[in-house]
Amino acid sequence: MSNQEPEKSSKGVLIVCIISLIVSIIAGYYVQEQRKNVQTVQSDHCQKKKTGDTKRTKKEAEITPAVSVKSTQMPFAKGKVIVIDAGHQENENRQLEPIGPGATEQTIKMAAGISGVASGKKEYEVTLAVAKKLKVQLRKQGYTVVITRNENETNLSNRDRAQIANKAKADAYIQLHAAGSDNSTLQGAMTICPTENNPYCAQNYLKSKKLSKCIIQGVVEETECQNRHYWETDTLSEINWSRVPVTVLEMGYMSNAEEDLNIADARYQNKIVIGIANGLEKYFKN
Ligand SMILES: [Zn+2]
Repeated sequence: MSNQEPEKSSKGVLIVCIISLIVSIIAGYYVQEQRKNVQTVQSDHCQKKKTGDTKRTKKEAEITPAVSVKSTQMPFAKGKVIVIDAGHQENENRQLEPIGPGATEQTIKMAAGISGVASGKKEYEVTLAVAKKLKVQLRKQGYTVVITRNENETNLSNRDRAQIANKAKADAYIQLHAAGSDNSTLQGAMTICPTENNPYCAQNYLKSKKLSKCIIQGVVEETECQNRHYWETDTLSEINWSRVPVTVLEMGYMSNAEEDLNIADARYQNKIVIGIANGLEKYFKN
C-alpha cells in the first residue's frame, strides 16, 4: 500500500497537468478567435468606409451633397416655395435700373462679381455650383424649388431675379454670393436683409431678418467658419426689388486664400448647403 500511494499521487498530478493543458489550449484558441473577430469587424468598418467613398463618382460628388442630414421628405417643407439665386453671371451688365420700385436712384443691372485669389474661380461659378446642390437638397426634403439661372451665360439683372421670386410667391428668396475685400485677412460668412425703414420692402422686414438670422446660424454651425452675423441695408437692388422674405448669403471671402479654397471645394460647398437647409428648417418650424 505504501508503494501505491506515491504512484496514485503522481497519477493525480499528471491528470491535473493534462486538464490544465487542455484548458489552456482551449482558452488560447478562444482568445485567438476573439481577436480574429475584432480584427474582422474593424477591417469591415474601414472597407465599408472605403467602398462608400469610391461608389460616389466625381461627378456625383460635385453635384449632390456628400453628407445629407435631411435627405427625406419633411412635412413642413410641403407647399413651401424656395427661390435660389446664383449671384452674378459670366458677363456683367453695366446698364442701369432703379435701385428699387419707383426709385429715381439707379444702379447697374449686374456687377461682374469677384474672383478667388487662390482658386482662380469666378464668383458666378461657385454661386451656381452651390445653387445647384442646394436645389437638389431642398427638393429631396419636399420643398418646391425655383432657381433663377442654370447657366453662366445668361443676362438677368437684380430686378429680373427678384421678380422671378416675386412671381413664384416665394416663401424664402435666397441669393448666393461671396465677398471680397482689399484686406486679405478678412474671413467669415454673413447674411444681408433690409432695414425696418426700407422704402421698398419693409413689409417683409421681420421675416427677412428672421430668415437671415436662421441661415447664417445654420451655415456657421455646419462650416465652422467665422460668424459675421447679418447686416441690414437698403442699398442693394437685389433686396429692394423683392416682395417676398429675402436674404443674401455671403458665403465667405474669396479675397482670403484659405476661405477662397474652401468655397471652391465641393465638400465645403456641401456643408454650406446643409447649413442653409438646417437654417430654413429652423425658419419654418419656429
Ligand atoms: Zn456678389
